[in-house]
Amino acid sequence: MKADYTGAVVLVTGSGSGIGRASATAFGRAGATVIVADISEDGGKAAVDSITQAGGIAEFRHGDVADEDSVRSLIEGIVADHGRLDVAHNNAGVEATTVRLADLDSQEWRRVVDINLSSVFYCLKAEIPAMLAQGGGAIVNTASISGLIGGYTLACYTATKHGVVGLTRAASMDYADQGIRINALCPGLVDTPFLANLPAPAVDRLINGIPMRRMAQPDEMAQAVLWLCSDAASYMQGHALPVDGGTSLGGTTTY
Ligand code: NAD
Repeated sequence: MKADYTGAVVLVTGSGSGIGRASATAFGRAGATVIVADISEDGGKAAVDSITQAGGIAEFRHGDVADEDSVRSLIEGIVADHGRLDVAHNNAGVEATTVRLADLDSQEWRRVVDINLSSVFYCLKAEIPAMLAQGGGAIVNTASISGLIGGYTLACYTATKHGVVGLTRAASMDYADQGIRINALCPGLVDTPFLANLPAPAVDRLINGIPMRRMAQPDEMAQAVLWLCSDAASYMQGHALPVDGGTSLGGTTTY
């Protein structure tokens, strides 16, 4: 299935790397004007170069999703320059330190809540008025299967991703009758630099818990995002879509 985004203005946050970069690349291939937003200028510009070299239209804009003013001016700038915002993939996020809850530092808690959860609120708050003014739009928030199930030593990350799922559901109900569709993507384990801090044996153990026995490639997430934002998914509203090789099914791995 091929979605056509010709003429659409698409924002992808955290698109200097990993899932966001794959999403920006796929939207670029599908004809969109892609706004690559990231806190990392190097990553963002590299993503733009590869999209434009492949014949797509993309531009880099610096943005820190944990900073409400930065998010507001990013989105106001896009609307001022392009006249609209058709699709937003609110994707930027970080890993949290893996420790049991009582050992979790409060500063680390606030850092991760700001980047993973408050960020999505700031993005939605700025994107929705722009979409209402033009009569509609589609938004996908990157959550995680950690937004659906628990995880050992992952209290902070898990709480932020459950928060993203909750925010997605509530926001989608507020605007479902005004032409804005808001859904969440819940990736399982995806082969990106995000996993760089995990020791190889830990990655192997995680892979062993995946029914498909492999990590996803970032483009497998991008294809789900393009579908969720397309007219092919016109009745998808407020859902948290696991794209996880079956990990969140909760089956036991006994062999
Ligand atoms: P990644 O580290 O490859 O990319 C994350 C990008 O976000 C980077 O380019 C980084 O510079 C950017 N970023 C970080 N903080 C930012 C900020 N404050 N403002 C703007 N940009 C910022 O990671 P990824 O694997 O592509 O992760 C993307 C999203 O997917 C995250 O929300 C993550 O929680 C989620 N996710 C990842 C996995 C996985 O296994 N990789 C699984 C589930 C969910």
